[in-house]
Amino acid sequence: MSVIERFQLDQQSAIVTGASRGIGRAIADGLAEVGANVVIANRSEDPGRQAAEELADEHGVETRWIETDVSKEASVRNMIEETVDAFGTVDVLVNNAGIVSLYPAEELELSEFQRIIDVNLTGAFLCSKYAAREMKDTGGGSIVNISSMSGKIANYPQGEAHYCASKSGMDGFMTQVASEWSEYGIRVNNISPGYILTDLNREYVDDNPEMAETWKANMVMDEFGTPEDIAPLAVYLASDAASYVTGENVVIDGGYTVR
Ligand code: NDP
Repeated sequence: MSVIERFQLDQQSAIVTGASRGIGRAIADGLAEVGANVVIANRSEDPGRQAAEELADEHGVETRWIETDVSKEASVRNMIEETVDAFGTVDVLVNNAGIVSLYPAEELELSEFQRIIDVNLTGAFLCSKYAAREMKDTGGGSIVNISSMSGKIANYPQGEAHYCASKSGMDGFMTQVASEWSEYGIRVNNISPGYILTDLNREYVDDNPEMAETWKANMVMDEFGTPEDIAPLAVYLASDAASYVTGENVVIDGGYTVR
């Protein structure tokens, strides 16, 4: 098989959580481009349905929008069941749905700490658990988590201890399940982006340009990344091109963590 053929995911089924926009949308586009049938799993119906329709039109694959709140177990179970009903298997899961807020740790309310953990970490756990059950039954699959460089470093100058904790948790979870689930043919890897300009942080950047300049000053490449900078690695990790890669965590940050 040629190198490029190993990236193909024809007729495979791929779930991308939080794929209505931003990084998840770019990853869903990439997976559809290499032939996967794609499930867009997020909460808001209009952008979710629109993303699913655009992907199908552009790439000629099957797509579904499935209303999903990754922090709610019943919602995740339903999403996995509907995926299997539609496509027969779950071959690829990308845990991308995530949220952020900025607070100094000493002022962080417990409820806000838990809100971030519930979506970013518990959500990845729930989706992985129910997807892995399907993958185990069908001989394997690939799980890709969108973690963050924030799981490894301190953010500066803003307070983000809850977000950093959620992403460190994701990294630890990934390492463990990559080991536990290897006997079922399931590979699990993380991607850790740096600052990618999306709806997640646009308001903070607009409202506080000095903070954004501090971030940029720490980047070797001096500029924010784009969702399209992340998608090719997600496609690689999802595909057979990465068949010998598991338990790995790759940083894409324009050199932020180098400095
Ligand atoms: P966006 O805010 O652009 O998109 C977030 C997506 O997640 C939306 O589709 C949103 O849809 C969905 N979402 C939010 N909450 C839930 C939920 N409870 N259940 C299901 N879906 C949900 O974010 P990004 O594209 O920037 O971020 C994507 C991932 O990348 C996140 O995990 C983030 O932590 C990570 N990341 C981002 C970085 C950045 O600089 N942008 C840097 C490092 C990591 P809806 O609201 O309709 O549910």
